[in-house]
Amino acid sequence: MKAAVYHGARRFEVTEIPTPEPGPGQVLVRVNHSAICGTDVHAFMYDIAPAGSVIGHEIAGVIAAVGPGVERWQVGQRVVAGGGERPGGVTGLVDANPRYNYRTMGFAGGTNGGYAEYQLLADWRPTPIPDSVPDAAAALTEPCSVAVQAVRKSAVRLGDTVAVIGAGPIGLLTMQAARAAGAARVFVSEPAPARAEAARKLGAAAVVNPREEDPVARLVELSGGRGPDVIFDCAGIGATLNQAFDSTRPAGQVVLVAVPWEPLPLEPADWMAREVEFRTSFASDPVDWRIALDLIASGRISADALMSEASFIELEQIQEAFESLMQPSTQLQVVIRL
Ligand SMILES: [Zn+2]
Repeated sequence: MKAAVYHGARRFEVTEIPTPEPGPGQVLVRVNHSAICGTDVHAFMYDIAPAGSVIGHEIAGVIAAVGPGVERWQVGQRVVAGGGERPGGVTGLVDANPRYNYRTMGFAGGTNGGYAEYQLLADWRPTPIPDSVPDAAAALTEPCSVAVQAVRKSAVRLGDTVAVIGAGPIGLLTMQAARAAGAARVFVSEPAPARAEAARKLGAAAVVNPREEDPVARLVELSGGRGPDVIFDCAGIGATLNQAFDSTRPAGQVVLVAVPWEPLPLEPADWMAREVEFRTSFASDPVDWRIALDLIASGRISADALMSEASFIELEQIQEAFESLMQPSTQLQVVIRL
């Protein structure tokens, strides 16, 4: 099969590798869409993906073969490559390690990823795609589940004012999830014009350009001088986390969704008197995948709004796609068609 093998030093090579065969309890998925995740771009940028590996985890596909003894799937069923409930006795990497550290252990869970024509999975892992959800939108179920978990673990209540910093795919999905959860107004801070425009189209009450105006002053002003109730940092770069703390209302909440790969400057003396609450949200659980698919199927979250015809590339274009995604860009979501 064709696969994009990561060779280290920011190099992918698209090459032929053996197509895996499903063993007992496994299924083989023919990948048709594989979305490029910001986390993978970081893995490339900071060269932390293991050399010789195939990464990629935002996948829609079709069951192509089932291993001996697999009864729950039939060849031809449409699936996303995740979201299944772990059987008893199988622990995930994070659950099995109370001191789990994403920076040092992030890829210990395996690198049989989706930037390839086929992916081998344990049979409990995939989730069926509802008929009403097209393949390309289904490929965004994983990032959508990350947004769903972030909102479900947040303090967002009906009628709240929310801010989202960073309108990349996770930010755009988080703003929609916050609205679906009852946020009355969502403000977005985003410098890239295409991403700001997408946020506006998806119903942002206002979009702040942090390169042209002070995002803290503006977010406080937009929320009546008090500050948003909950702020999601979906950028995790430079000053964004400090901006979130600085803008939130007294006893408001900051939720870190993005994974920062560099130390971030904080100035707590500026904001600690407001007794701000902080929490992180990492990845997602099966329940979040199911909710994500329901929200996409019902139209309350638009995955399509993150994609245009320009979003779709061939596997052979993966190197240039990753290189361009290292810089703040005009692309919203890049999706590999296989
Ligand atoms: Zn992802």
